[in-house]
Amino acid sequence: MKRENSPTLDRRWALTGDSVSRSLRKLSRGYQIWRVLLAVGLSLAAVYVVIPYGLAASTIYVGTTLMTAVSVGLAVRRRNAIFCPTAWTLIACALALATIGHAIWYWLDIRGLEPFPSLADAFYIGVYPLFILALWLLGRRNDGGGGAALSDALIVGISAAVLGWALLIAPYVYDPSLTLGQLLISTAYPVADLMVLPLILRLVFLYRSRILAHLLLLAGMVAYLSADMLYAHGNAVGWYLPGGLTDGLWLLAYTFFAAAVWHPSAAEKPRAHASSARFSSRRLIILGAAAVLPPGIILLTAGANFDIVRVAAIGSILIFLLVLHRMAGLIKRSHQQAEALEHLSRTDPLTGAANRRHLEQTLAYEVSRADRAGGSLSLAYLDLDHFKRFNDTYGHAMGDALLQNVVSRWREILRPTDLLVRIGGEEFVVLFPDTDAGQCRTVVERLRRAVPDEQTCSAGIAEHRRGDGGSTLLGRADGALYKAKRQGRNRAVLAVGSRSDT
Ligand code: GH3
Ligand code: MG
Ligand code: MG
Repeated sequence: MKRENSPTLDRRWALTGDSVSRSLRKLSRGYQIWRVLLAVGLSLAAVYVVIPYGLAASTIYVGTTLMTAVSVGLAVRRRNAIFCPTAWTLIACALALATIGHAIWYWLDIRGLEPFPSLADAFYIGVYPLFILALWLLGRRNDGGGGAALSDALIVGISAAVLGWALLIAPYVYDPSLTLGQLLISTAYPVADLMVLPLILRLVFLYRSRILAHLLLLAGMVAYLSADMLYAHGNAVGWYLPGGLTDGLWLLAYTFFAAAVWHPSAAEKPRAHASSARFSSRRLIILGAAAVLPPGIILLTAGANFDIVRVAAIGSILIFLLVLHRMAGLIKRSHQQAEALEHLSRTDPLTGAANRRHLEQTLAYEVSRADRAGGSLSLAYLDLDHFKRFNDTYGHAMGDALLQNVVSRWREILRPTDLLVRIGGEEFVVLFPDTDAGQCRTVVERLRRAVPDEQTCSAGIAEHRRGDGGSTLLGRADGALYKAKRQGRNRAVLAVGSRSDT
């Protein structure tokens, strides 16, 4: 049956055309490139693994690596806002080195030459310093909070290194058929991997926000390391063959890098944990497991292989030192917090002057000191006059500002040994050690004159008498203040019984 073009179908075509052009527009703006790269990279990796190993497969391999190297390079040049472009430039260079390495390796392999080490190894090994530098830059922080994350990453990383040594590196070391060059190159890979690992972990520990670009980069790095480890093990034991899943994992890694840098979120700076020094229970479990792994390996292999035991012991010592360093950091932090808390508990939040609790502690101390040493000690009770009226006229906020002003001006007048206390509302107490009532009165007059905004202030002054308790001294000053208020405010009155009370 012949089908007529129906109007509905036409409209559908138009709609499809619309959405295609919209997608193209989006693509040209770079929003979708990451999806395309991911799809193409994953498909090529799958094809590479599925088809038999040969010229076609190796072309796909080199081609995919080249594609990712170019994509990352282009992203750095074309996208104007990516987080840490230097790191991505280094990753692009690493991928370019990997491409050259692969091209050389396949060229040699197809011609039946498989020298080891070969020129290809020089390029492969060149990848690692670039990765290491890139990961270092991505985790660098200027707020100084990265030390704890690095410490934790090293604990887990060293533990993994000991495991890696026992499983991956030691077998090479004991292979008597290897030349020195072969030994160095074949151990260089796992050693480099074990240097990359703590830097990956550092990013995991440091950043809380799991934005997709960041996740793709981490997934790529993990895929890369996994492929390296599988390769090292497969080579040592003899099961590795090119063209299999292990190679596919490397292609996966490259693809993730390319998709990561093109993802829109690559522009965002990942948000760090509020406090990277904080210990979550999950972190504690991870660190605990990492810390017991090397001694566990010692226990299991003791007597079997001396070098494994030695390395595991060194690993344990390093981890122990790092744990100590981490503990020292936490202890220092908790001391700082305790100090900050102690300061807060003794301070008036509005003005920053001392509070009543601080006065009670200091007054008791100064009174007993004056009793013992026989020195003088004076106390002034100050109260702003008609402050309620000031508030009513200018508002509470202006009232607050005046209180803050008063405190900062009085601070300039007082000696560091004098204690300025906001006892409540618009009432202040100043404790003057080694000061008799006459000297105290002089200072109080200066304080009263320093009150801003044409506000006045009344004061009661009392001098310590032998045997007076703190509350007696305070009570006498309060009484004198009451008298000053009654006598018409805006004056200072000396309590009866003070030495200069004349
Ligand atoms: P007097 O001369 O008798 O001391 O009169 P006064 O108005 O200063 O005294 P009163 O005790 O009647 O009122 C104190 C006022 O202080 C009441 C309140 O509005 C004000 N006040 C207390 N605490 C604060 C504060 O934290 N901020 C502000 N802006 N005002 C406060
Ligand atoms: Mg008042
Ligand atoms: Mg009052």
